[in-house]
Amino acid sequence: MAAASGSDRGIFGFALWKEVLAGLFLGVLAGLFFKDYAESMKVLGKIFINLIKMVVTPLIFLALVSGITSLSGAGSAARVGMKGVVAYSCTSLFAVVLGLVMANIFNPGIGISIDPAIFGDASASSQNVPSLGAFFMSLVPTNAVRMFTEDHYLQIVLFSVFTGIVINMLGPKGHHARDVLQGFSAVTFKMIELIVRLAPIAVFGFIAWMVGTQGMDIIHTLIWLVVCFLAACALQMAVFGVLIAVFGRISPMPFFKKMGSTQLLAFSTSSSKATLATAMNNVETKLGVSEQTVKFMMPLGASMNMDGTAIYLGICAVFFAQVFGVHLELHDYLILVLTCTLGSIGAAGIPSGSIIFMGMVLNSVGLPLEGIGILLGIDRLLDMVRTTINITGDAAITLIVDASEGTLDHATYNA
Ligand code: ASP
Repeated sequence: MAAASGSDRGIFGFALWKEVLAGLFLGVLAGLFFKDYAESMKVLGKIFINLIKMVVTPLIFLALVSGITSLSGAGSAARVGMKGVVAYSCTSLFAVVLGLVMANIFNPGIGISIDPAIFGDASASSQNVPSLGAFFMSLVPTNAVRMFTEDHYLQIVLFSVFTGIVINMLGPKGHHARDVLQGFSAVTFKMIELIVRLAPIAVFGFIAWMVGTQGMDIIHTLIWLVVCFLAACALQMAVFGVLIAVFGRISPMPFFKKMGSTQLLAFSTSSSKATLATAMNNVETKLGVSEQTVKFMMPLGASMNMDGTAIYLGICAVFFAQVFGVHLELHDYLILVLTCTLGSIGAAGIPSGSIIFMGMVLNSVGLPLEGIGILLGIDRLLDMVRTTINITGDAAITLIVDASEGTLDHATYNA
């Protein structure tokens, strides 16, 4: 792992990753010995996530607009944009298929029979489950102010891309808007950088809460689900390496070596949005990816590319079909490929951000929503792993796109 620069220091002045590790360790101890205070300790983590949510919405808008407006020429903006969307969609699709295949190999739900009634009535939550049609319609905002106040990230992505393209089209007349937005973009990045220094305290709170409130018993019942998910994630990680070698034509080793501190932050916060600013900084300064590619690709990835989440949705759908004895036909699998991919695109990059989309996925093939209750006990643990995959995927694709554009600084990458 590279030495800490000024921007990746934690609140206590040490390298952020060291402080996060200390937070993890102390959190486990506090959870074991001070169970009664678990809920209070969770507040520390919740405050951190609130701070991130406060800044991340303007950050995504400003970073995307300044990313697009700093791509020289409309041609290169369109090309990088196209590459980004296609690459992110392909990896998400692949991740879903990987999840479905692995679940059919491991059969994590066979032999488990669970009475849905013990999880209470989940039908109330089904009212909030988005349908497919509603999903597509919801991509286009009808009110540009409301989408910011209600955190509709995909709408914000669409609006930001549109804004960036129009500013570019305006030529010199658009320069004032571009400069103002780029200025504010720098302000929000500084804010996130300062907030992320608090991550060690948040990690301490979340881990203490998890260890203190959720015994490890549930893991025994769901052990094959956990093993299957971890195996699929390991494969996905290897796939990123292969993609970097094949499409980026560079060795993946420096990538994996230098991503450690970012991955640790993703793992411990379970939030790709909380990790975004640190990840962008690392991808630019340690991997040598050009600033304009980072500014465009990383916020786009944090909003639409969640490969760990895609794997999770796919595996869980097959798991629940097995638990509830529902036989899935080929057309069910095709529907699952579609809904899991959309779910991973739509999920918010916050802890348990994909749970609402789990409802959409289960609904789409007629599986009972009560299933979600089974997962809650282990969700946090698996969320840590899927967030790590999510952010690694964003960084890998960003690196590949930059290498293919010829703007990657190879000396920094290999240093
Ligand atoms: N926690 C994940 C993330 O932030 C989203 C999810 O799968 O729940 O990337």
